[in-house]
This record gives sequence, C-alpha cells and structure tokens, in this order.
Amino acid sequence: MAKTVLVSGGAGFIGSHVTVELISAGYDVVVADDMSNCDLTCFEGVKKITGRDNLPFVKMDFCDLEAVHNLFAEYHIDAVIHFAAFKAVGESVAEPLKYYNNNLTSFMNLLTVAHAQKSGCNVLFSSSATVYGEPDVLPVTEESPRQPATSPYGNTKQICEDILRDCVKAYSEGEGALKGIALRYFNPIGAHPSGLIGELPRGVPNNLVPFITQTAIGKRECLSIFGNDYPTPDGTCQRDYIDIVDLAKAHVCAVGRMIDEKMENDYEVFNIGTGVPVSVLELVNAFEKVNNLKLNYKFAPRRSGDVTAIWADPTLANEKLGWKAERSVEETLAAAWKWEQRIAGK
Ligand code: UDP
Repeated sequence: MAKTVLVSGGAGFIGSHVTVELISAGYDVVVADDMSNCDLTCFEGVKKITGRDNLPFVKMDFCDLEAVHNLFAEYHIDAVIHFAAFKAVGESVAEPLKYYNNNLTSFMNLLTVAHAQKSGCNVLFSSSATVYGEPDVLPVTEESPRQPATSPYGNTKQICEDILRDCVKAYSEGEGALKGIALRYFNPIGAHPSGLIGELPRGVPNNLVPFITQTAIGKRECLSIFGNDYPTPDGTCQRDYIDIVDLAKAHVCAVGRMIDEKMENDYEVFNIGTGVPVSVLELVNAFEKVNNLKLNYKFAPRRSGDVTAIWADPTLANEKLGWKAERSVEETLAAAWKWEQRIAGK
C-alpha cells in the first residue's frame, strides 16, 4: 500500500512542487494549508500536472492544536513535510511575535500530535542556509558552525531545528517514536517546466528571481542590484541557486530514507544546493541570454543583512540521499520566465 505524506503549507511555492514529485514517486499526499500566503493557483496546477482531481486538501492552521489532532485522526500519516511558516525576513524584524508565535507553535503542535500517534511519525523540516550566517569557510558543510540569526525568521529556523533534534533524541524508540531530517535549502528558484506552478510573491518581491521576471514583464521598472563592491570576482554577492524541481526531488529522497528506515542517525541534516556559486550579475546575464531579452537594471547600495557569499558543499546529500542537482541555471531561468508570462496571461 502506498505510504501517505502530509505536506503542511503544501499550496505554496516549495510545497506544491514537492507534492508533484511525491505523487510521481508513488506516494499518497495530503495537502494542508491555511492559505494565508497563497491562493489556489498552485494547488490547481498540481492537480493538473498529476492528474489527481481528488487530491486531498485540508484548509487549516497548524497553530490550532485541535485541527492538527483531527487531521491525524482522519488520515494515517507515515511522514510529514513541514512548510507551513511565515517567511518574510523584513516583516519578521518588524513583527517578531507574529513570527515566533506562528512558526514555533505550528511546528510544536505538529510534533505533539505526531508523537501522540502510536506508530510515531517521520518528520522533515524545511530549514535554510540562513542558519550559517556569513560563513568563514566556503563551501559550507553540515558541520560548518551555525551563526547567531540576524532576523526572527532566521531564528525560528534554528529553533525549529533544535526542537526537532531534541524531540527525536527523547522520543526515538517505542510508541510515538519520531525520526527527523532537516533540509537546509540554499536559494530555491525557478518553476515547474509545465508552467503550471511557480512562485507567487505578494506585493513587491524580496527575492532576486521574482524581481527579475517581474521587471522583464514590465511590472517593475528596474531591478536594483544590491551592491557591486563586495569582495567577489565581479563585486556582486554570490549564492547557490537551486532549481525548485531539483529541490523538490531532494524531499522525495529524504522521505524515502526515513520511511525505508535507511537513516544512520535518528536526526539528520543535509545541505540542499548545487555546490556552484553564481553572482547576482552572472544570474542576470544568464537570464537575459537564455530568454533572449534585455533587463533594465542598475547598481544600488548594499542591502542590509545580506551576506557576501555562500554556497553549499552538497556531498552529504549526494552520497546519503542519492540526490544531486541536475538542472542548469539556464533551464531554471527559462522556466521562471515561462511561469511569469503565464501568470501575466501572455
Ligand atoms: N538581490 C538584488 N536585488 C533584488 C533582490 C535580491 O540584488 O531586488 C540580491 C541580494 O542582495 C542577494 C541575492 O540577490 O545577493 C539573493 O537575494 P534573495 O533575496 O533572492 O535571497 P537571499 O540570499 O537573501 O536569501
């Protein structure tokens, strides 16, 4: 019988791509989302791509403990992937309580209910390379030190990793046993090649690629490249941009590792990145080239809080998860542009 994976926050950007890949790998999926930061566009896209018209969807808030109990009473959940969280760095600085309340409560509720199941549960937490801060040594491995978070958002990622680690340590055996994996994402970009699901930022995008595509389509006048005086080869920041479909596939590998009992430790952490640094300017140039257009951009002052350079050493994920980033940055940027054109109705 197919195993069932609960995807909390499954109607969002990453959750929708992960749902597609889980279904194509043969899992049953239950999508749960409070729809606070998305509409049904991506969920409808997932149904179209997978041909699953009856894909279970539960509209719920994971801060509501009773709702989480009810969900687990209705479905037998073998693994859960937790995306349901607020993610705007700037807003988290202005409204820390909103972020701590939501991101920590929802995760603790989920663990409380998962631990209350006789059969226990496998828990995959979506973490972030933000936990490494400004690294002294590049690329970063999972052993690289975590740095004090520079925003409440980043801090919730670190705290949730610690909560999961501690719960797994305390509850790894017997009834209600928990196993956990934290995936530290680098910079997820792109869209599904079908053009049916992708990123739908609310308001002015903070992230680079949605800002690029919105500028190219004419929604924004000009892209500001934040800083060209960094100590990098071309003066702009370097990041590890990971294709969203590649990233989604890493989740399938990690869920399989937990469900098939292949874990070497009850709590494991993996970097999910390409291992290749790309500068802002290189990304802009690649976008122009692959989509055959000119982007209106200018250099602007540095953005506060940005690190100079960070990229992953993905060896552990390559070896232990049997996962590797496959899509080129050009393919990814072509998919992102296709998606922007589709949502603009062009
Ligand atoms: N960036 C930029 N202009 C923008 C948005 C982002 O120059 O409008 C740069 C940003 O300074 C960083 C990189 O693009 O060097 C990636 O930023 P993003 O917000 O996408 O991800 P982050 O690495 O900050 O999580």
